[in-house]
Amino acid sequence: MSRIVYVNGEYLPEEQAVVSVFDRGFLMADGVYEVTSVLGGKLIDFAGHCARLNRSLGELDMARPCSDEELLAIHRELVARNGIVDGLVYLQVTRGNPGDRDFVFPDPDETKPTLVLFTQSKPGLAESPAAKTGWKVISIDDIRWGRRDIKTTQLLYPSMGKMMAKKAGADDAWLIEDGFVTEGTSNNAYIVKGGRIITRALSNDILHGITRAAVLRFASEAQMQVEERSFTIDEAKTADEAFVTSASAFVMPVVEVDGAALGDGRPGPVATRLREIYLEESLKAAV
Ligand code: PMP
Repeated sequence: MSRIVYVNGEYLPEEQAVVSVFDRGFLMADGVYEVTSVLGGKLIDFAGHCARLNRSLGELDMARPCSDEELLAIHRELVARNGIVDGLVYLQVTRGNPGDRDFVFPDPDETKPTLVLFTQSKPGLAESPAAKTGWKVISIDDIRWGRRDIKTTQLLYPSMGKMMAKKAGADDAWLIEDGFVTEGTSNNAYIVKGGRIITRALSNDILHGITRAAVLRFASEAQMQVEERSFTIDEAKTADEAFVTSASAFVMPVVEVDGAALGDGRPGPVATRLREIYLEESLKAAV
């Protein structure tokens, strides 16, 4: 059975789903996206992803393709039609197909946004073996544009960063700007020192992670100390532990930074505990 995907109001087998060559998402990366995880057939933090999508669209003067309720219904329909137990729902909105290539934005009354959603099945997503051993990260320059708070589909540099990490035998890259870590290629970055969880404060420099918001809330509720400030890669190399968060990796321990092992080189207690709390609490609130 082929995967059923959603394109502009239609549910279609993936082989039949098409987007125009003139779509601005294709020609100009003029699009935004969201990734929502599915555990036990339910959506994790859907409201958060929806709110961030609306913010991304607003920042780019892009029209909303439909209401939040309709988006939820489409997510659920795709999960059901594809029999997803554990996995992801990918959603992308672009400024649509104006029928030609032009730098000027098309008139939103004439060109409707393109809405595409598809599922990715990942059985056992929450029991990822990597969470038991942790990730190794390297550092690379952050040469992305200045509006990283908008979740755009301009993912070439993060993708190159992943390749640099892979080539170096690591799992991901942490991006460095003016000497400080901004975030991972596709996740938010944290270190732990003396029991304190340290992560960069929100600004246009980083994506406002939905998982970050939840994890910091759970950490505070569990009486853990949280410090929102920038940290250097040297500070990270001498941290007690480190981790990253994202909708698909949840809380992923980091055990090595630029070749330096953290602690005993195994996932630390804070990251391990936060992963447990995050999964437990998010599952309870899943829709
Ligand atoms: N930063 C970047 C650059 C990302 O791409 C992502 C994941 N899309 C995140 C952080 C984490 O965000 P979230 O927790 O909402 O998945």
